[in-house]
Amino acid sequence: MRIWIDQSKCQNSGLCEEEAPELFAIGEDFLAYVRQDGAVLDQPGGEASQAEVPEGQEELAELTAKACPAGCIYLVG
Ligand code: SF4
Repeated sequence: MRIWIDQSKCQNSGLCEEEAPELFAIGEDFLAYVRQDGAVLDQPGGEASQAEVPEGQEELAELTAKACPAGCIYLVG
């Protein structure tokens, strides 16, 4: 499973980073980005920056995507 965020819709709630800091991070532009092995995938972000969800964290990724108030966290696969 992979995850990505549409930063153009992100409402900067910070919820994803609070719920799953191993999967999400708020960038210097105050928008949320996905993390891959600790690195923040902010270049370029969006659909082109997809992170592989580590084994055992799929449910956390799904729950956080559902909780995102902007509905802009997408799961693939
Ligand atoms: S939960 Fe959604 S709206 Fe809030 S910071 Fe994360 S991606 Fe943005």
